[in-house]
Amino acid sequence: MTKRCYYEVLEVERTASDGDLKVAFRKLAMKWHPDKNPGDAAAEVRFKEVAEAYEVLKDGQKRAAYDRFGHAAFEQGGVGGGGPGFGADFSDFMTDIFDNFFGDSRARGGRQGRNRGSDVRYNLEITLEEAFAGKTAAIRVPTAVRCDSCEGSGAKAGSRARTCGTCGGAGQVRAAQGFFAIQRTCPTCGGRGEIIDNPCDVCHGAGRVTRERNLSVNVPAGVEDGTRIRLSGEGEAGGNGGPAGDLYIFLAIKPHAIFQRDGADLFCRAPVSMTLAALGGEFEAPTLDGEPAKVSIPAGTQTGRQLRLKGKGMPVLRSRNVGDLYIQVVVETPQNLSRRQRELLQEFERESSGETHPESAGFLSRVKELFGGLGG
Ligand SMILES: [Zn+2]
Ligand SMILES: [Zn+2]
Repeated sequence: MTKRCYYEVLEVERTASDGDLKVAFRKLAMKWHPDKNPGDAAAEVRFKEVAEAYEVLKDGQKRAAYDRFGHAAFEQGGVGGGGPGFGADFSDFMTDIFDNFFGDSRARGGRQGRNRGSDVRYNLEITLEEAFAGKTAAIRVPTAVRCDSCEGSGAKAGSRARTCGTCGGAGQVRAAQGFFAIQRTCPTCGGRGEIIDNPCDVCHGAGRVTRERNLSVNVPAGVEDGTRIRLSGEGEAGGNGGPAGDLYIFLAIKPHAIFQRDGADLFCRAPVSMTLAALGGEFEAPTLDGEPAKVSIPAGTQTGRQLRLKGKGMPVLRSRNVGDLYIQVVVETPQNLSRRQRELLQEFERESSGETHPESAGFLSRVKELFGGLGG
């Protein structure tokens, strides 16, 4: 059986926010829940499908892996590793899902508990120049806020929620597991203790809606690719007055056209004319601070030689240290010669000897030795 796309399963766009996913999951999980569809195997399959899709998409890392590699990300030995892992008994699996999803309310005392809002991930891409200088980035973050239309109740104006029949409004049910009877979040109402028959048009019963908020993020000079910046309390709004989650900014640094970075050091290749390399002199090298640096090269510089400019690399985060810039010289062979230039070079060649070209002279004599040895 081919697996359906997770976004299709949850009936959301690929751009859906965490809040949208949660709403979609809640709606579909209720619809296909085995308690509501007793003996219906097809519903159970749909329910598992919905739960699996949400397990993956609610997790920023797993979602990114799925976006890149599809289902392959979670296959045995796949790139993502540690996929959702659905070998377990269905009831255990369901428990996990509901504990993950509604776990907080149970931990904090059941019905109407104060739920801490979810943490939110935001991917921010910056240039190497910005990582060098640091910047204040203005970002727009979609987060869940209380729905004004229903004042967070989730019920359409003029209607009210009714008490949940499964748990009698407690939000908790008793379940036997082995020798133990344990309290568990009610799967029918998700711990709310009530059922919304006429959900609010704006939030579809979630009581929260997704809004974009403008925030400014201070990106310090010297940040590395993959750095995580935590903004405490800037995540999703909590439920029932609970504290907000945190916002995590994941920084990615775009590849640079000229510089490669290794920690605080920068590397680049600089083409240098044949005559400059032979005679020695000065040339201008690019740097990240925008001011070209004067670099002197000694006479007789060969291709591949590395020149080090101290203190011209990246600043080190939270310190006064600065890395170095390494410039690798690439001697450029002249092209499109004029007649005069050709004559000059031919004259130069006549004057050349083992002294002016020790490397090729040495190479030639080694080749001679090798073939002489084989021949004799
Ligand atoms: Zn209930
Ligand atoms: Zn609403």
